[in-house]
Amino acid sequence: MKTAQTIDGVRKLLAEARQAGRSIGFVPTMGALHEGHWSLIDQARRECDDVVVSIFVNPLQFSPAEDFDRYPETLDADLAGCEERVADVVFCPSVREMYGEEAGLLTRVHVSRLADRLCGQSRQNHFDGVCTVVAKLFGIVGPNRAFFGEKDFQQLLIVRQMVADLSIPVEIVACPTCREADGLAISSRNRFLSPEQRKAATSFYESLSGAVESVRAGRRDAAQLTASIRHQIETSGVDRIDYVEIVDATNLEPLPEIDKPARICVAAHFGETRLIDNVAVDAP
Ligand code: AMP
Repeated sequence: MKTAQTIDGVRKLLAEARQAGRSIGFVPTMGALHEGHWSLIDQARRECDDVVVSIFVNPLQFSPAEDFDRYPETLDADLAGCEERVADVVFCPSVREMYGEEAGLLTRVHVSRLADRLCGQSRQNHFDGVCTVVAKLFGIVGPNRAFFGEKDFQQLLIVRQMVADLSIPVEIVACPTCREADGLAISSRNRFLSPEQRKAATSFYESLSGAVESVRAGRRDAAQLTASIRHQIETSGVDRIDYVEIVDATNLEPLPEIDKPARICVAAHFGETRLIDNVAVDAP
């Protein structure tokens, strides 16, 4: 496994693979790697000749009030894990390498509509930051396939739209959400939960699973379903629910009734820690 801190360096490492016609699989991450990330890397390993992982905590996608300064960094463990998973190249640039001095980037990539909904309502400019860094990383790495988790379902759809709109020649591969034994979606931020908050957070997946069962049993009405999810999360000891929404799985538009493939999406604060989750539901 090779590591590169510079854009030139990673390009040089990949030039040979590209010339030899090897397929490049890419897993962009912010580090603090966990089972969710490993599952993406494993899938890339199975599907591509060469696997590139990037580790970069992207300041552009955090607002000043968010947790950029306390985002966990575990680079040594991340590199050891990547080596174990047989990644070929890990790209871990500094902020200065990616964005230069003071003025930084003057460009932002904005995917309208999709980026303004759900998390976009409370995290202003978040998805512009995500799209800008992902577009830049695609320009640097030039992958054939890039692997994204369904855990961040809105992000997945936005990145798909971006590469289609900008004709970026990469296939976006969706990977299922990895969960703890009790169903909580694995996240780098789970480590910040106190034992009480960790317990309360199980209500997230329990309420979503309950809704999936209700839909299977024939319930279609989104208002009823979201009310019962809200009730379950509220009684668990959550601090603040950000949203509970049932949306069209293709465009994130709210669905009053589940009459096509849909996604139930939730976001809430447990103390200082904001968690998100989502599940697929469909009409019978
Ligand atoms: P992050 O490091 O949080 O930016 O995540 C990097 C990638 O890992 C994104 O595509 C996430 O959707 C994905 N990811 C994070 N957590 C999980 C999980 N629990 N299951 C599957 N994918 C995940």
